[in-house]
Amino acid sequence: MTGVVRVPVLFVNAYLVEANDGFVLVDSGLRGIGATLIRVAVQARFGSDVRPRGIVLTHGHFDHAGSARALAKEWDVPIYAHRLELPYLRRQSEYPPEDPTVGGTLANLSRLFPRAGSYAGPRLRPLATDGEIPGLRGWRALPTPGHTRGHVSLFRESDGVLLAGDALATMDQESPLELLVQHRQLRQPPAPLTTDWQAAQRSIEHLATLRPQAIAAGHGLPMVGPDVAEALSTFARNFAPPAHGRYVNQPARADEAGLIYVPPPVPDPIGLALRAAGVGAVAAALLMALRRRSDHDDPRAFDATGRRPRSS
Ligand SMILES: [Zn+2]
Ligand SMILES: [Zn+2]
Repeated sequence: MTGVVRVPVLFVNAYLVEANDGFVLVDSGLRGIGATLIRVAVQARFGSDVRPRGIVLTHGHFDHAGSARALAKEWDVPIYAHRLELPYLRRQSEYPPEDPTVGGTLANLSRLFPRAGSYAGPRLRPLATDGEIPGLRGWRALPTPGHTRGHVSLFRESDGVLLAGDALATMDQESPLELLVQHRQLRQPPAPLTTDWQAAQRSIEHLATLRPQAIAAGHGLPMVGPDVAEALSTFARNFAPPAHGRYVNQPARADEAGLIYVPPPVPDPIGLALRAAGVGAVAAALLMALRRRSDHDDPRAFDATGRRPRSS
């Protein structure tokens, strides 16, 4: 992956992507630690006092966009995201609720995830509709909706390098052991935060038609080599959405102003049991603490619909 540097931030990846005359940061990791690790990686690769041309976000989830605002402010550079992702990064809307009923470890943990996108601040800009990325010639941002409505993947056609964000994963996120060893394997997008499984499947099928030579995703180690294209084709052919879950038969719907509709929740026996055991209260307290922390610099509250008027 010439000119692509992976920056692991605990369980998620950011990437430094070199262009002819500089570099661009793709995703920004978790808030705080993401910025710290990215600063170290930038200094190691390019030296001190060097800054990128901009930051591109594959989507606005907390583990990908958490440090974008702080780094953009520090470097005084723009942040780019797909226009359908902007309402969450502007905090004009919340993402659809996570789906703890989709099954698996991650789904159970998702009860603790913050639902709001990371506030990106005033440097946020929409990506151009033709997918061109300022400062990153040779790369294109491709809409890959499904995990989120405005999710994009980045592709460099000249050598087939694909930065897939959460359109798919290159590790099994369901196994706590795999979080440590991270065997390379193609896997579904992070399930509890994926809110349109049909679109997610179409996006994976579309990515397979690109015949990538390297796949670097938001979660897992990069997969590189002549077998990668065929592995992705096989994965796309055999892909099936989860057997059950809130968004499996009916997607959440959203437009450029944010969330419009979420399908009704499906029965959640584990959630009920947790609440009955009092664990839910602890989880709720943790969640509130997380949300309060992520609201820290943007104290405006959501109204009951989960939206609020566009700010100036
Ligand atoms: Zn995500
Ligand atoms: Zn992610």
